[in-house]
Amino acid sequence: MKDSYEVIVVGAGPAGVAASLICRKRGYDVLLLDKKKREKIGDKVCGEAISKETVHEALEKLSIAPPKEEEINARIEDLVLRTASPKNHITLPAIGYMINRYKFGQRLLQEVIRSGVILKDQCRVKQPIIRDNKVTGVLIKDSEHNSIVILSKMVIDCSGTMAVIRTGLPQEYEPKLNKKITKADFAPCYREIIELNHDHDLEGKIVLQYETDIPEPGYIWFFADGKKRLNCGTGFIKEGKHAKKSVKSVYFNAIEKYYPKGTYKTIDGRGDVVPIRAPLWNAVGNGLIVAGDAAFHADPLTAEGHGPALMAGCFAGEVACNAIEKNSFKLEDLWKYNLLIMKEFGADHARSRILTMALEKIGPEKLEFLLKRKVIKQSDLTSAGIMKKKSFKDYLDRAVRCFPKYGLLLMMRKAISTSKAIAKHCETYPATPENYDVWKLKILDLYSQIT
Ligand SMILES: Cc1cc2nc3c(=O)[nH]c(=O)nc-3n(C[C@H](O)[C@H](O)[C@H](O)COP(=O)(O)OP(=O)(O)OC[C@H]3O[C@@H](n4cnc5c(N)ncnc54)[C@H](O)[C@@H]3O)c2cc1C
Repeated sequence: MKDSYEVIVVGAGPAGVAASLICRKRGYDVLLLDKKKREKIGDKVCGEAISKETVHEALEKLSIAPPKEEEINARIEDLVLRTASPKNHITLPAIGYMINRYKFGQRLLQEVIRSGVILKDQCRVKQPIIRDNKVTGVLIKDSEHNSIVILSKMVIDCSGTMAVIRTGLPQEYEPKLNKKITKADFAPCYREIIELNHDHDLEGKIVLQYETDIPEPGYIWFFADGKKRLNCGTGFIKEGKHAKKSVKSVYFNAIEKYYPKGTYKTIDGRGDVVPIRAPLWNAVGNGLIVAGDAAFHADPLTAEGHGPALMAGCFAGEVACNAIEKNSFKLEDLWKYNLLIMKEFGADHARSRILTMALEKIGPEKLEFLLKRKVIKQSDLTSAGIMKKKSFKDYLDRAVRCFPKYGLLLMMRKAISTSKAIAKHCETYPATPENYDVWKLKILDLYSQIT
């Protein structure tokens, strides 16, 4: 390992492998750092459901073959939102795979190493190095506990939920970049992979099952991972009245109703945290780009973050290389990254956050009522459906179905109109940093209308 590189990428998850591979392909020398042992990289607690479209698009950019048969556990077609009464559900198209995340992650890592990226495993990044208000490298602790400074022209923070670089920045560094991390940004989760004694009836489905006794967002997930296998889990924000609740106990209570003890064996059971807020509105600063979970790039409704992390890594790599070419690493040189993210998935995830906020507010009991009476329809949850103008007849029809709970109808209307306003506002994301503060105030104001 040298003491300086053109690019340092922190974290060898999907965002980090994509970012480092793009930079290497453009001819730069890249150091990829991860605290895990090389053979453990890619092993992460996950629902393991990935969207075909996003992942294929990113892999094409990286010239990497799509998931191979031995990496795919099952194919998925539908995302189902349902309540305790199985008749009440909404089904949305979700074409993709259940993958073996470890095998897939290891293949991506091999591609990165083969390309000439230098991987330093078992090395914990401690903090960014800042000089003249620019991120100029990182401080690491290696496996022999040596503290080492490594310098670079660009640092890409792909360190996952704890965002070691972003959160280690001093306050005076770029005020447009959010350096904080709060409890409300994450849901601690518990996830199991189980094998049933019998075939399940969820083939091709990923199910979000809303339950009254699970704290908001209020669901246990069941993802079909093979004929007998399910990937299941739950999670919630541990704040207020839920602060002391054990995620594991909530999970075991919920699963018992559907798959009682003795009807399955557990293959793997572990906890982790999942980011559940809207993406960082700005994810760049002088000499720094933040990608993947470190920038809240996962979908707040479904927690789907693998594909977005790959895409964000590709964009981060491209923008970092352009900056090195120009030898200019300022906020404005890297701003294009924000525009690429917003266009690719940022606006959709911003809308998705409104939807989760609305579902949290409505709660499972009332959601059951809305689904049963068909007040919420499938089209209310798709981008095209949200943006379509609703007729007066449609409103009247829903009002009749919603009787006598008109408060719920008003809340739903508010959520739909706010979602629309957010989608429109995202289209006006500023092309340069100058108008960003005003833009951000407006989007925060839109979110405050739902809280
Ligand atoms: C319970 C759960 C269920 C999920 N379900 C799904 C799903 O079904 N589908 C989906 O697409 N996504 C899912 N996700 C989200 C998905 O796992 C993440 O969005 C995705 O892994 C983000 O990729 P990343 O590269 O940003 O971060 P990560 O994959 O977390 O990678 C970060 C890397 O950085 C390394 N690192 C961290 N800190 C340091 C440090 N200080 N020094 C050095 N290295 C460091 C870590 O070892 C790790 O290898 C789920 C997440 C959870 C927790």
